[in-house]
Amino acid sequence: MNINQIMVIGAGQMGSGIAQVCAMAGFDVILHDIKEEFIEKGIGNIQKNLNRQVEKGRLEEREKEAILSRVTTSVALENASKADLVIEAVVENMDVKTQLFKMLDQFAPDHAILASNTSSLPITEIAAATERPEKVIGMHFMNPVPVMKLVEIIRGLQTTDEVYETIEAVSKKLSKVPVEVNDFPGFISNRILMPMINEAIFAVYEGVATPEAVDEIMKLGMNHPMGPLTLADFIGLDTCLYIMETLHEGFGDDKYRPCPLLRKYVKAGWLGKKTGKGFYTYA
Ligand code: NAD
Repeated sequence: MNINQIMVIGAGQMGSGIAQVCAMAGFDVILHDIKEEFIEKGIGNIQKNLNRQVEKGRLEEREKEAILSRVTTSVALENASKADLVIEAVVENMDVKTQLFKMLDQFAPDHAILASNTSSLPITEIAAATERPEKVIGMHFMNPVPVMKLVEIIRGLQTTDEVYETIEAVSKKLSKVPVEVNDFPGFISNRILMPMINEAIFAVYEGVATPEAVDEIMKLGMNHPMGPLTLADFIGLDTCLYIMETLHEGFGDDKYRPCPLLRKYVKAGWLGKKTGKGFYTYA
């Protein structure tokens, strides 16, 4: 299937990154969010990233302008009527996502593929909100999108081979490495990563060590490029909590229970880097 126009829903940290890599690969991109101010922030992030590339001599000024000119913005979901592929990157909440997919199903052309960048929610359930479950798929990018090579592609129960192959080809065109997984809570990446992060939070909660000590041990001892609590702040503590809740509910196993300290921080509005405070404080 031919993909020319991609619509990205949600201009947050993931959506703006996805829009950037799509525009860099030559696709026309519509970046959509609920408010102009969120889109402006997303476009600002893309500009900042591209400016850095220009400063480092990896991109010419005119290439930067060409990339930016391929991104248009939207606050009206009806614009999905122009899309061959929609990539959703809104908050990690099943009700919000199913509502959105229901509407996208109405506005997007019949041939359009609807992809979700969900970190953990069942693709099959999101697909069931539409009349085209065979064209719904998970396209899970990693953060930061312009840097990280992996795209975890999740087949829903009814996703067709043709849709899978199209998304695999688009991922390669974005210079990413696609890896196929089946639809199970947390897929592979977060089924393994999040319990580790949650355990690191339990270690702090139980007073075993400070966040700094936990991160230092995992960096120096396990050769991780970033400690689990720094990574949690970077991902967003709200997103981490949603993912743990999805694992807990999906598997019905208490080994996935979210740490009370994680809940407390999210309730306090300490969501990590994006709000300036999480396990660490950011300027
Ligand atoms: P974010 O909070 O930075 O951005 C979410 C954006 O979605 C916001 O701009 C918000 O205004 C917008 N939004 C919310 N509801 C909307 C709606 N109904 N229509 C349009 N826009 C809406 O969140 P994020 O970190 O970018 O995460 C987005 C998705 O990507 C989540 O599903 C998350 O699980 C997934 N994800 C996150 C990471 C990560 O490291 N943060 C990694 C991979 C996948």
